[in-house]
Amino acid sequence: MSYPEKFQGIAVLDHKDYKHPKKVSFDPKPFHPSDVDIRILNCSVCGSDCHSAQGNWGMKPKPHVVGHEVIGLVTKLGPNCTSGLKLGDRVGVGAQVFSCLECNRCKSNNEPYCNKFVTTYGQAYEDGYVSQGGYASHIRVHEHFVVPIPENIPSELAAPWMCGGLTVYSPLIRNGCGPNKKVAILGLGGLGHMALQIAKGLGAEVYAISRTSAKKEDAQKLGADHFIATKEEPNWTEKYYDTFDLILICAGSLTDVDFTTLPNVMKVGGAIRSVSIPDESQMLTLQPFGLVGVSIGNSCLGSMEELKQLIKLVSEKDLKPWIETIPISEKGVQEAFEKMERGDVRYRITFVDFDKEFGN
Ligand SMILES: [Zn+2]
Ligand SMILES: [Zn+2]
Repeated sequence: MSYPEKFQGIAVLDHKDYKHPKKVSFDPKPFHPSDVDIRILNCSVCGSDCHSAQGNWGMKPKPHVVGHEVIGLVTKLGPNCTSGLKLGDRVGVGAQVFSCLECNRCKSNNEPYCNKFVTTYGQAYEDGYVSQGGYASHIRVHEHFVVPIPENIPSELAAPWMCGGLTVYSPLIRNGCGPNKKVAILGLGGLGHMALQIAKGLGAEVYAISRTSAKKEDAQKLGADHFIATKEEPNWTEKYYDTFDLILICAGSLTDVDFTTLPNVMKVGGAIRSVSIPDESQMLTLQPFGLVGVSIGNSCLGSMEELKQLIKLVSEKDLKPWIETIPISEKGVQEAFEKMERGDVRYRITFVDFDKEFGN
């Protein structure tokens, strides 16, 4: 059996053996009148995919199909869909597939903070169906969590914005990133390389902060006006005293970030925001004195309204994530996970050739 009765995906069947995923057929979630079916064209690889595949965030029911930077074509629309989507439209889906849409948080464009949040893979909906992600032939999702993709953005370049891009866009825009603001991006991996482009696109004066100068040239090409290598300038927090309106921490872990000295570089009223999702056991220590005049917070994804704004910005400013493409398959997913584990990605992997693998 195949679509519409069954979807196909490349699934983790054992967290310990996550690097050997298998091609499986699985049941789609029951079709709700507000749901949309999407035939997948591309899916990029987010750090969360690897964490979830390895079981770092708890044991997931199997098969476990990850992937939440999805681009595809609308193949079916429920009778209650009212957002104006049409069959054949090219659309994207990110890391969230459900929220209540009725609570204060949902109604104020804070869907990621709704307590009925369902993440795109590995989480049960209220009816018990466990969500399945985008390393798959299709995805079925409530229309609210689907965003149209303008024609001038190629699919494989659109995918990384769906989670990674939105995750950095939201704290940038919520903390005033724009003209006449000095904004620093700390950590130049998958998220950081998108944050540099977005901050520059929003008109800020952009600083890239990294441990060494290894990525200096990349950072400049991505839009950084200034570059700080913290290991090579040990006194950087004194040198840049009272400089930044906003620092966005995009490092994979917070253990290397010195929260005792970091507030020195902030202007009064400045914001330090982090989007890193560390292991559950990681703790943060900081001295309350360091927080005088400065706020520190963690951000989670972004709203669908913000995703639409981001896609408009990407389209207008012609922003392009730097990607490597890998054909989707059991072997392809293995290769991607191995590259991610080695930190050998500049700066995002996008899976391609879904039609070949799944015979759509
Ligand atoms: Zn993600
Ligand atoms: Zn809600």
